[in-house]
Amino acid sequence: MNGDTVLVTGGSGFLAGFCVAQLLQEGYRVRTTVRSAAREQEVREAMKVAGVVAGDSLSFVVADLTSDTRWAEAVEGCAYVLHVASPLPSTAPKDENEVLVPAIEGTLRVLRAARDAGVRRVVVTSSFVTIGYGHPATDRAFTEEDWTDINGPGVTPYVKSKVLAERAAWDFMDREGGALELAVVNPVGIFGPVLGPHLASSVRLIKSLMDGRLPGAPDLSFGVVDVRDAADLHLRAMTDPGAAGQRFIATAGDTVFLHQVCLTLRQRLGAGARKVPARRLPSWLLRFVARFVARFVPALRGIAGDLGLVRHVDNTKARTVLDWRPRSSEDSVTATAQSLLDLGLVKEAKRS
Ligand code: NAP
Repeated sequence: MNGDTVLVTGGSGFLAGFCVAQLLQEGYRVRTTVRSAAREQEVREAMKVAGVVAGDSLSFVVADLTSDTRWAEAVEGCAYVLHVASPLPSTAPKDENEVLVPAIEGTLRVLRAARDAGVRRVVVTSSFVTIGYGHPATDRAFTEEDWTDINGPGVTPYVKSKVLAERAAWDFMDREGGALELAVVNPVGIFGPVLGPHLASSVRLIKSLMDGRLPGAPDLSFGVVDVRDAADLHLRAMTDPGAAGQRFIATAGDTVFLHQVCLTLRQRLGAGARKVPARRLPSWLLRFVARFVARFVPALRGIAGDLGLVRHVDNTKARTVLDWRPRSSEDSVTATAQSLLDLGLVKEAKRS
């Protein structure tokens, strides 16, 4: 059993829930932050759904990324920190500072507190949006060497928040990190099973398909990584000596098109996926769809401008440096849909 304590920020979140579960399974003691004490029971219920007995090994601190209060207490005695929490809005905020401030200042708060408490390493959850956005179209696959151009096209406040937060983290390490080590994980869209009714934006896209809210599959492509594999990569980046000072793209493979996801769900889930659109929307409709569908499906608003654009992506670094072996994108999106069915979160759908 591993006696080290790990702080995971934002334990009520989709990815953080799996990080907490995997750490507990590996014998770590886990402390996690929530924004309200009322969320503790929900996180404990999520651990049961994940098949983990949390007990005394899991503790909670109420802390918000926008305030200094209780971060020193949160990191006290921790060997490692997984900084996963960040605002992930499903609709564009009125004021971009609603996402920029918690993302950037929250990351710096966590790093500062971790350094002062003698934490060995912080793993920051960044995103592929800090790598492959704002560039002209290219057939080349993006790698960890690339950085998003925040002045380029398709840069939403969320994208900007993740770029500036990750930049701030590396700058902090250069300037004043001291003995602290930093590793960064850059996931593409995170899918896989859900542990409860609070759905991350990525999962809401699959729910929209399962609920029959799309008349056809828009010409959108995106990378897919399973939440279990993304959490596993965080744990590898936390302890592997080769991960310090490195960023790692978390993707099952190259990008997939939404119509391929629809086909997978229909083939694998049968009647359970009967409302998933069977056809691809013709290209002359795409611009219209970008405006029309996004009005009714908030999950699509941030990516409506991406119609027809393919951002190729590569996971070679995580596979070679950290021996990471993610499951397929087909298995991951199927697991999302199946868990939505199992938890009764799909409108009027029968189980397969
Ligand atoms: P999520 O379920 O929405 O989780 C976000 C977490 O951040 C929640 O626990 C939320 O707390 C917390 N949070 C938000 N604002 C906060 C604040 N001001 N103070 C404290 N906590 C705050 O989304 P997720 O998919 O698990 O995302 C986790 C991380 O992965 C984020 O850093 C996100 O940028 C990154 N990521 C996600 C995807 C994806 O496809 N989902 C892809 C790439 C990267 P509440 O529960 O209280 O709201």
